[in-house]
Amino acid sequence: MTPDEDNVYEVIIIGGGPAGLTAGLYTSRARLRSLLMEKALVGGQIVNAEQVENFPGFPDGVSGSELGELLHRQATRFGLETLYTEVCGLELQEDRKLVRTAEGDFTARALIIAGGSSRQELGVSGEKEFIGKGVSYCATCDAAFFREQPVAVVGGGDAAITEALHLAKFASGVTVIHRRDQLRASRILQERAFAEPLIDFRWDSVIERIEGKDFVEGAVVRNVKTGAQSMLGVTGVFVSIGFRPDTDYLKGILPLDDIGHIITNEKMETGISGILAAGDIRHNSARQAITAAGDGATAAIYAEKYLTEQ
Ligand SMILES: Cc1cc2nc3c(=O)[nH]c(=O)nc-3n(C[C@H](O)[C@H](O)[C@H](O)COP(=O)(O)OP(=O)(O)OC[C@H]3O[C@@H](n4cnc5c(N)ncnc54)[C@H](O)[C@@H]3O)c2cc1C
Repeated sequence: MTPDEDNVYEVIIIGGGPAGLTAGLYTSRARLRSLLMEKALVGGQIVNAEQVENFPGFPDGVSGSELGELLHRQATRFGLETLYTEVCGLELQEDRKLVRTAEGDFTARALIIAGGSSRQELGVSGEKEFIGKGVSYCATCDAAFFREQPVAVVGGGDAAITEALHLAKFASGVTVIHRRDQLRASRILQERAFAEPLIDFRWDSVIERIEGKDFVEGAVVRNVKTGAQSMLGVTGVFVSIGFRPDTDYLKGILPLDDIGHIITNEKMETGISGILAAGDIRHNSARQAITAAGDGATAAIYAEKYLTEQ
C-alpha cells in the first residue's frame, strides 16, 4: 500500500526525547520536510527529572518538563511537524522507508530512530509512587540530591557498581543490594567498590517493597536464601538492573545488540542506507540528555548528507 501524498516526508523521526527533538531541529532548519512521531509526551524521559543541572545553557538548572517543552518549541519553530502516535512497524522499500503507525502508514527517504531506552523496573510496591521522590534510575542525574543521606543501589553489574561508586561521593552510605552472592561487574569496578568504605553489600537479597510518607524512608529487603526480611533505612533507591529499548519492531531489519539497542557507527548510521539512530536507543549510549541531543544533531547532519548525495 502506498501512503497518500500528505504522508510522504523527507525525514521521519521516531521519538520525541532530546535526541529526536534535536534531530528535528536540525532537519527542519535544513528545510527538509520532517515529521516527528511520539507515542507519549514530547520531551522523553527527561520530563521525569525534577531538576536537570547538567544540561549546558541552564546555569541555575531547569525542570525536566520545562526543558522538554523548550526543546520542542525550538524544533517546531523551523517547521518540524509532530504526530502523537506509536510506531509499530517498519518496511524497507526501494529508496523509501515505510513507517507503520496506528494513524496509518507514512514514508520518508531518511529515518532517524530516537525511541530511547528505559531502565528496567523492579516491579515492587512503592517503586512507581516514589519516582522522583527517592526512587531513581540515574545516579549521574540525581546523586547530588542525596548529599549526606543513606541510599541503596539495586543491581550487581557494571552500571550498578559505577552508580554506587558515584553515589559514594555524595551519600553518607551506599548499600548495594544484589540477588546473587557475587557481583557481575568487571573486576576493576569490584576492587574499587570493595575498597570504598562507604559502600556495603546485602548479598542474595532483593527489595520486597519501598516505603515512606511523601518521600522514600526505607526499603524492605528479603534474603532470597533464608527468606528473612529486614528494613533498610534509606532515602534513595537507585535501580540499576538493566535497560529496555523499544525495538521489537526493528528485529531482523536493523543490527541490534543482545538487549535490543541499535548498533551504529560514529555518524549514527545503522548500516542500512538512510536509517540512522540517536540517543539512548543506541548501543553504548552515555544515557544523558546532552549526549542524546548531540547524537540527534549528528544523525540529522548525516541524514541530510545522505539525502543530498542520493
Ligand atoms: C528520572 C530521570 C532523571 C534524569 N535526569 C537526567 C539529568 O539530570 N541529566 C541528564 O543528562 N539526563 C537525565 N536523565 C536521562 C535522560 O532523560 C535521557 O538520557 C534522555 O532523555 C535520552 O534521550 P532520548 O531522546 O535518547 O530518549 P528518551 O528521552 O527516552 O525519548 C524517547 C522517546 O521516544 C518515544 N518512543 C519510543 N518508542 C516509540 C515508538 N515506537 N513510537 C513512538 N514514540 C516512541 C518515547 O515515548 C520517548 O518519549 C534522566 C532520566 C530519568 C528517567
